Amino acid sequence: MREDGRKALEFETRARIGPAWAEGESGRFAVHDPATGETLCEVADCSVAQTESAIEAAHAAWPQWRSATAEARAEALRKLAQAMHANETRLARIMTREQGKPLAEAAGEVRYAAGFIAWAAEEGKRIYGETIPSPKAGKRIWVHRQPVGVVAAITPWNFPLAMITRKIGPALAVGCTAVVKPAELTPLSALALMELAVEAGLPPGVLNVVTTSDAEAHGKAILGDARVRKVSFTGSTEVGKWLVRAAAEHLPRLSLELGGHAPAIVFDDADLDQAVEEIVAAKFRNCGQTCVCVNRIYVQRPVAEAFMQKLAARLEALRVGPGMDPAAEIGPLVDRATFEKVERHVADARARGAKLVCGGQALPELGPTYYAPTLLTEVDHEMLVMREETFGPVAPVCVFDEEQQAIDWANDTDFGLAAYFFSRGVARCFRVGEALEYGIVGINDGRPSTPEAPFGGFKQSGWGREGGKYAMDAYLETKYLSWSL
Ligand code: NAP
Repeated sequence: MREDGRKALEFETRARIGPAWAEGESGRFAVHDPATGETLCEVADCSVAQTESAIEAAHAAWPQWRSATAEARAEALRKLAQAMHANETRLARIMTREQGKPLAEAAGEVRYAAGFIAWAAEEGKRIYGETIPSPKAGKRIWVHRQPVGVVAAITPWNFPLAMITRKIGPALAVGCTAVVKPAELTPLSALALMELAVEAGLPPGVLNVVTTSDAEAHGKAILGDARVRKVSFTGSTEVGKWLVRAAAEHLPRLSLELGGHAPAIVFDDADLDQAVEEIVAAKFRNCGQTCVCVNRIYVQRPVAEAFMQKLAARLEALRVGPGMDPAAEIGPLVDRATFEKVERHVADARARGAKLVCGGQALPELGPTYYAPTLLTEVDHEMLVMREETFGPVAPVCVFDEEQQAIDWANDTDFGLAAYFFSRGVARCFRVGEALEYGIVGINDGRPSTPEAPFGGFKQSGWGREGGKYAMDAYLETKYLSWSL
């Protein structure tokens, strides 16, 4: 992909199946710009038969790709990561146009996404086996790791690049091939990534991208195909459960990165300025549309007033605007359904007695899905904002007295993805860090995500881990060779 106007269209809008770009056999579907609500372009609407062809292409490419040396695979992936860095501006602009997040955030996501590819490329060279002392004379026990085979990656709209590379980086590095089904709302980033993969010289069929407006039909085709040995899904808990049921027939390996409902606890010994900065980062990044987004804030009584004043001042200073405006810190919500959920949650909280400190209203002068950064106090666990993912720029704050009370409230949820807390006490940091039932705990840190570290949740936030060395296991089978000499 170049910035020199080679393409008539700004975006690649065709699917990629094996060696060819393909128009959709079911026509095209529209992609919208959340900043205006207008149609950005139309993208190939693939038929189920096309998804089956993509699975076939991945299956056909697998023997050669798995037989390549880890270094050869690493070299191809390094080129892809380099191409992503070289095209950072273009990828960021595409992402902002289809998803809405501010450009600087989108550029950050491009770097983060490239990081998963680069890290996995190197780690793919360290897939070690093992020998185990046999209890019987004349026998040898060898343990060998092998790629699982064809991987289907089903990804959400909130991180249109990183949720793909977090899967295909380790999958391709260890010798699997992949079919990606991006979200209907954000297919353009996936297709732009695919373009770079082609230019980086990834062999045909190793990576395929199918775009569709009928996720369920394609999900059924993926789960109903015995050639798909692994499904890696990031998205809602509801769809994750559907996939678990649908996987019963062929039992592909399943990784599930699902929803969250992150608490943030501010203790009375916290650095309040640091707590505000980190909570604003964790809460308002991507307009609150992240799985690790702070959903509930618990603040200890002695510092509650000071904390809320600082937080309200910070929120009132946030600049809301279209993501393409370099000054914007908060963009639009991705679509009307997401916007309406935010309105519903705020209305529910207020009807049940929550107090509005700032925000609490739409900003229609900016566009159809802008919502002001909102601070609610006097909230309780009966309110929707305290129980369901709001996926918007709403921060509900609740006051607590005792440490154990905050831990109990924080753990009072079916989710267990990310939690945050703020304290300068070493003993408390150990105590609370160990007591929180979450896969990721940020201690004085609202930005823990990084390609090197394990990412994933307890409870209904999913199965498995992505990131770091933990990611590789998801794409490997363990084979035991018992050898009698
Ligand atoms: P979603 O509705 O579950 O969709 C996720 C993906 O699954 C999309 O590609 C979607 O396609 C597809 N899909 C929907 N129904 C399907 C079916 N029956 N079979 C196969 N695929 C199906 O989630 P979303 O609204 O895009 O994303 C937001 C959710 O993702 C939130 O809950 C958030 O917490 C979670 N999330 C989790 C993580 C994590 O790492 N744990 C990271 C990011 C987001 P369509 O878009 O075409 O419907």
